[in-house]
Amino acid sequence: MRLTALDTSVYRFPTPEPEADGTLEWSATTAVLVQARAGEITGLGWTYSTGAAAAVIDEHLEPAVIGRDSNDLDDCHESMRRASRNLGTRGVVMHAISAVDIALWDLKARSHDLPVVALLGAVRDRVPIYGSGGFTTMTDEQLHQQVEDWRALGCRNVKIKIGEDWGTRIEHDLSRVARLRRFAGADARLMVDANGAYSRGRARRVGRALDELGVVWFEEPVSSDDVEGLAGLRQALDCDITAGEYVADVFEAERLAPALDCLQLDATRCGGYTGFLRAAAVAAVHNLDVSAHCAPALHTSIGAAVVNLRHIEYFADHARLEPLLVEGILPVRDGTVIPNRTAGHGYTLHPEAARWLA
Ligand SMILES: [Mg+2]
Repeated sequence: MRLTALDTSVYRFPTPEPEADGTLEWSATTAVLVQARAGEITGLGWTYSTGAAAAVIDEHLEPAVIGRDSNDLDDCHESMRRASRNLGTRGVVMHAISAVDIALWDLKARSHDLPVVALLGAVRDRVPIYGSGGFTTMTDEQLHQQVEDWRALGCRNVKIKIGEDWGTRIEHDLSRVARLRRFAGADARLMVDANGAYSRGRARRVGRALDELGVVWFEEPVSSDDVEGLAGLRQALDCDITAGEYVADVFEAERLAPALDCLQLDATRCGGYTGFLRAAAVAAVHNLDVSAHCAPALHTSIGAAVVNLRHIEYFADHARLEPLLVEGILPVRDGTVIPNRTAGHGYTLHPEAARWLA
């Protein structure tokens, strides 16, 4: 079938109250959604980005794929990447390519009446998740409730944000981790994300304290641009050093992987499922697991199909908004999600999603 249109729409979901991590504050999440059309069939994809990603799709990506065979996913991917050369192929442009790629995987799977996970090829029946939130803006009561909510879903892996005020409140950060231990229990696997807030020295000192607290995951202790800093921390600390949420392609995956214990990948930023598969192969060459960043609904199918996947992130903001954007969200049970077995990835635009149009 020949592709005939990529239709875009932009949705904005306000957070219940302003939220923050160590290095950024936000009060809404923007989803850029694309519907790829071929014959009578429509595929759905989206990314969490900015409205500019929709303009990239409309002006640059749609002309690059119209008329191409909707089964030829790598051909479409490469055509979009080549058409974006002068814009730069990373950042917002790759968010846009990612949304289209996911829509094309959905379209291809639907056109063959297969689930996306069957098209990819499953390696596991259930995809493990971890609870993620713990924003620096939350009260102790809110964090306690969030941990209880995750526990009710069977999540024993839980992650909070640290590095408050660009890493300048170390004692405060560590006291919050100690509270997380109390809330989550002795058997929980604690994870923290500093979003690049610390300097190398601060990250090393915080990391030693985290090792004492039994934390197993220290995400972006320093900026993910500081590959040498990450590599040094990996040598110095027991906890796993992780990063990768901004990776756009195999070249960036290859640059980061040697400095990490686990490579994070986001299908809505690294080129959709096509890009995720390629970057996961890069991680495999370095004997690394990958962990999916954010967008839990979109990582269920790909998470079931990647051999070296550790888990996917059940990120609070996205877990809240995805059921408002689409129908077909799968339930979490025993800390896992069972991938959809109907055609495509199983999601359709929610009939009331229009109320969130930007
Ligand atoms: Mg992160």
